Amino acid sequence: MIPAFTAKSDEFCEFVHARNWIAGEWSDPRTSKVTLDVPNPRYGKAMSQVALSAADDVDVAAKAAHAAFRDWREWPIRERAHVLYKLRDLMMRNIDELSWLVSHENGKIFPEAKAEVEKGIECVEYGCALPNLAAGNQLEVSRGVACEVVYEPLGVVAGIVPFNFPMMVPLWTIPQALVGGNAYILKPSERVPLSSLRLAQLLVEAGLPKGVFNVVQGSKEVVEAICDHPLIKAVGFVGSTKVAKLVYGRAAANGKRALCLGGAKNHLIVVPDANVELTAENVVASFTGCAGQRCMAASVLLAVGKVDAIIDAVRARAAKLVTGKDMGPVTTRAAAERITRYIDEAEKAGAKVVLDGRHQGPKDGWWVGPTILDQCSPDMAAAREEIFGPVLSIVRVPNLERAIEVENANPYGNASSVYTSSGDVARRVMQSVEAGMCGVNIGVPVPREPFGFGGWNDSVFGHGNLTGWDGYRFFTRQRKITSKWALQKDQNWMS
Ligand code: NAD
Repeated sequence: MIPAFTAKSDEFCEFVHARNWIAGEWSDPRTSKVTLDVPNPRYGKAMSQVALSAADDVDVAAKAAHAAFRDWREWPIRERAHVLYKLRDLMMRNIDELSWLVSHENGKIFPEAKAEVEKGIECVEYGCALPNLAAGNQLEVSRGVACEVVYEPLGVVAGIVPFNFPMMVPLWTIPQALVGGNAYILKPSERVPLSSLRLAQLLVEAGLPKGVFNVVQGSKEVVEAICDHPLIKAVGFVGSTKVAKLVYGRAAANGKRALCLGGAKNHLIVVPDANVELTAENVVASFTGCAGQRCMAASVLLAVGKVDAIIDAVRARAAKLVTGKDMGPVTTRAAAERITRYIDEAEKAGAKVVLDGRHQGPKDGWWVGPTILDQCSPDMAAAREEIFGPVLSIVRVPNLERAIEVENANPYGNASSVYTSSGDVARRVMQSVEAGMCGVNIGVPVPREPFGFGGWNDSVFGHGNLTGWDGYRFFTRQRKITSKWALQKDQNWMS
């Protein structure tokens, strides 16, 4: 067994068991005895185990975090940011090892895992910049009267994250929360519990005081305890729409701030004047990247009019991808079965499987190859529901208006893209689609730092974006201070 979280290649290896990280110490759940295997999806067998915690462990973590918060909030913001400078440096120095860890637990191929870690580093860099951005405001509002706004921490805050980006998604919120002066409890996905623990080690090495960052492993029970615990003041959640809605409702009912990002069904609109090669390359990267397990992945292609040359190019490119080499596995056996079921049902309902990824890939592990379903109707499950796999459903529409109508009938609102060489078409789509993150000739329109990440409609519950400046606002509260030192004779209530 490898005594830490390090790996140097994609060769199967065993990792230490995932435990809790509370108050700067490793610990096992106090009462819960439930453990889960942590499989390597590429090999389809256990490489570690995770012990699932319970409400009493959340209580211990919340109290430890609250004790650490009292001192941490007194650190000047620049000194808090210096910890992140060091974290960035450590992540850069260990980037390959971190990427292999992500690749082992999530399954994504090494270049994708490395891109994830690099994006996580960008988020850390945003945290490093916060002392220069978070100066607050001050104005002399009347003679001798000044009003000042300062950003104060909330106290203990929590992040609850999904399986598909075990390193990057935690780093969407950790920098803002910590530089903002909060103490943090992270609840990783029980399917990928290791990357967060490596992050905890690096934060200690970077100089973060004990107890300011804690990891509690677990599933539903831990999430519910986080939503209920009175010491926890804010919850940032990322995951499926079903759970986002539950967490938002429960946390908000307990008076907490909650911002919960949910699932997605992203549409790409392709019109006949789109550049064939650029579009094909982008569409394929978008629906096959990370084996389609991205909330920003293309899922439905709305083919406007005669775009057969583009669809042929998409198919030809996707057909060249080799599972196991160019594409990783999906994370569980159940996911592979669910994705396959969507394809089977679409075929039965009349869709044409023009590229079939069912039962593809190496012998071990859980694989689905790139799949393209043509002639889908908008009411088929494959065109309506989140599949979360490398499947592109093509819906043919006669004009742009119908494309926008089909897209906007979908309840999600995460991402949307249009492929065109016409500024007018791009502008019409950008003004009409119900999506929070839009792209023109871009398949994965992630707003990179410093812009905020967040969708609309059923892809988000709560207000604003989770990353960027909105993230800082979410994890801080504003104190408004009005002062008057120069007392005047002629003052009235306005002066
Ligand atoms: P999930 O909703 O199953 O799990 C997310 C978190 O919630 C995990 O930590 C999990 O332990 C916990 N959880 C699961 N079921 C729960 C329950 N019943 N009660 C309380 N907590 C529960 O999501 P996932 O399968 O890990 O991730 C995939 C989903 O996440 C997809 O829907 C994807 O679109 C979404 N996602 C969204 C974004 C975004 O920014 N909008 C980013 C990444 C992933």
